[in-house]
Amino acid sequence: MPELPEVETVRDGLARHVVGARVVDVEVLRDYSVRRHEGGPAGFRDELLGQRLGAAVRRGKFLWLPLEPAAGSVDGPAAALLAHLGMSGQLLVRSGVALADRSPHLRVRVVLEHDDRTAYGAQALDFVDQRTFGHLSVQDLVPTPDGAPGGLGSDLAAVPAPVAHIGRDLLDPSLRRADVVDAIRRRRTGVKRALLDQTVVSGVGNIYADEALWRARLHYARATDTLRRPEAHRLLDAAAEVMTEALAQGGTSFDALYVNVNGQSGYFSRSLAVYGQEGEPCPRCGTPVRRDEFMNRSSYTCPRCQPRPRNGRW
Ligand SMILES: [Zn+2]
Repeated sequence: MPELPEVETVRDGLARHVVGARVVDVEVLRDYSVRRHEGGPAGFRDELLGQRLGAAVRRGKFLWLPLEPAAGSVDGPAAALLAHLGMSGQLLVRSGVALADRSPHLRVRVVLEHDDRTAYGAQALDFVDQRTFGHLSVQDLVPTPDGAPGGLGSDLAAVPAPVAHIGRDLLDPSLRRADVVDAIRRRRTGVKRALLDQTVVSGVGNIYADEALWRARLHYARATDTLRRPEAHRLLDAAAEVMTEALAQGGTSFDALYVNVNGQSGYFSRSLAVYGQEGEPCPRCGTPVRRDEFMNRSSYTCPRCQPRPRNGRW
C-alpha cells in the first residue's frame, strides 16, 4: 500500500510535470474509479474539460490539484481534482510514444496539454488501479478552519470538502505539534490506535507506526492518557523522522516523466527495524522481534525495548 512518503513522491512529480497544463480530454474506462464524483463519469469529464491544473497539494495520503479560475477572475480556485491511491493506485504521466500504451488496469486517463508544447507535447495522466480501492473525483474546496494552507504544495487556505476532517500530517509545515500531543493524551485508547487515527494526525500507516513506536521505545498498547508530554513528542518526532528518511530514499523514481507508486520503495527492504522482522534480532539490543495480531493486521515490537504495559489498551 502506498504510504505517505510514496504519495509525497507522487505529489512532487505532479508539481514538476503536470501543474500548469490544461485538460484537453478525459476518458473514464472504469466507472467505479470515479464513484466518489457526484455527477458520475460524464459529470467528471465535463467538470475537468478545459480546466488548468494549478498546483499539486497533499495532506496525509490525499492528493489534489486545484482547478485554476478563469483568467481575470478575482476569486481563488473553487474546486480541485482529488485523488486517493487506495491500496494499489498509481498515477503515471506519459508522453510521446508511451501515450499509446494502455495498461490493462488503466481506469481513468486525463489528457493534458501544456502551453509550451515544444517542451512537453501532449501528455496523459493515467490513473491505474488493480485493486480499485483508489478513486478520483472533482470536489469543492472549503476554507481551512485555521486559515493556514490546506496542505503541502500550495499556499491556498482551502481543502477539498472530503478532506476537511482529516488531520494535518507530520510533514505539513502548518501542523501544530502541541495540539496533536494534546489530542493524543486526551484519548482513552492505545497509542498505536491514536497514531493511526487520521483525524488526529494523518498519513501514519501500520508500517511507520511500528517503526516510530520502536524508535520511541513505546509499546503499541500503552494507554494514551498515561503518556507524558515528552513521550508523545518523542513519538511524533520519531514518526516524522522515519517518514523523512523514507522520502529521501524512495523519492528518486520520478525522473524521466514517470510518476510511480508501487507501494514499495527501496526503504522497505533496507531500513525497517521491526516491521515484518518477526524473529529477527532487534537492531538496538538483539532480542528477537515479536509479532502480535492487531486490528486484523500485525504489530511488531522488540519485547525488551518496548515492554508491554501492565494496564495497556488496544
Ligand atoms: Zn530491542
